[in-house]
Amino acid sequence: MSNPPYPEINSKRLWRRHLDMAKIGGTPGGGVHRLALSDEDIEAHLLLAEWAGVHGFSTDLDSIGNMFIRRAGSDPSLPPVASGSHTDTQPLGGRFDGITGVLAAFEALETIHEAGIETRHALETIVWNNEEGSRFIPACMGSAVYAGGEEVSDMLAREDRNGVTMGSCVGALKKALPQAGSRELGAPIASFIETHIEQGIELETNGNTIGAVTGMQGYRRFEVHVIGEDAHSGTTPRARRKDAFAAASDMTRALRELLWDEEDEIRYTVGRFEVLPGGISVVPGRVNFYIDLRYHDAGKLDALGDRIPEICRAHAGPCEVEINEFIRQAPMAFPESMIAGVEQAAARHGFPHQRIYSYAGHDARHAARLCPAGMIFIPCWRGISHNESERAEPDDIAAAAQIVTDMLIDQAV
Ligand SMILES: [Zn+2]
Repeated sequence: MSNPPYPEINSKRLWRRHLDMAKIGGTPGGGVHRLALSDEDIEAHLLLAEWAGVHGFSTDLDSIGNMFIRRAGSDPSLPPVASGSHTDTQPLGGRFDGITGVLAAFEALETIHEAGIETRHALETIVWNNEEGSRFIPACMGSAVYAGGEEVSDMLAREDRNGVTMGSCVGALKKALPQAGSRELGAPIASFIETHIEQGIELETNGNTIGAVTGMQGYRRFEVHVIGEDAHSGTTPRARRKDAFAAASDMTRALRELLWDEEDEIRYTVGRFEVLPGGISVVPGRVNFYIDLRYHDAGKLDALGDRIPEICRAHAGPCEVEINEFIRQAPMAFPESMIAGVEQAAARHGFPHQRIYSYAGHDARHAARLCPAGMIFIPCWRGISHNESERAEPDDIAAAAQIVTDMLIDQAV
């Protein structure tokens, strides 16, 4: 081969693509609001497909709305070597969460293509659908369905707050991309590497550019419905009230005590808390709240999560309480070969690097059920993420794209 084995990526192009993508759903506060398969998210898919078309890369969609941009390999019988992430964001989210991994993967495909490197395996950029889970529950829906962790028919029936189904959104995506081929769910993948901003401060604190991710903490999510009775706030004495807010606040307070640890490693969050009917002069008859519990040790996560229903019931007072666990993922570890692959590529280019653990959930968790998977973290300014102020540096993004390029070549030639 006359080309150098690891061609250099085009960092200027990569940054320009970031700026172009940040315009789609861009907010006055400098962030991005691009909910899963909203008009803006579909536009982001279209832009990517347009860039792909310039090189003759093909675009496929599967039945849950994942998108696969493919540069053909010389042996069509081999599964693709893949990289990618997601284009959707949280409401008023940032410009880097997700899209960084998609653009790093796409830059790798372009770089390898322009260097004229022939690979036996096809190379793919994957855009997993609905990673954030803020419009449609659950998060990581696309990758979970693809890997067999969720049922496609169940997921397509999921509705957003306006009653729009995921199925109709996937239909809209397919309609917007009539030239796209179709991809079978669960079709084999040779390996998957995902770039992502760290969403923490470890790399920044240590002055490192690259994190070779070793694994991901597990999580459990519960929905809690507290049912009391609506009543007049002026005429109803305390003894006759069935105040759902009072009960729910006792529950969340007791859970905070249960889930408090000296080491500060247990992650307990109530991120949604709805008080109904919401009248200022009405004792609320209903509260719905959601618990997100995360931890790195499977046994302790099991034990702590199992106590949540009993704690809620013990603090229900005169109210009824219903508790439903709607998602549960055990902690996981990436294979050593992928971790070492990230480290070797980082060392080759002189990028300061370290091993790092992921405290957030990512699509690579599900990809790991299908093939060797790994992740590359880059620094995220002050650890701020799921926020319009989210920031990552062009040089760090370029470093990650270079590592993806090296790893795709290593695995696909
Ligand atoms: Zn993300």
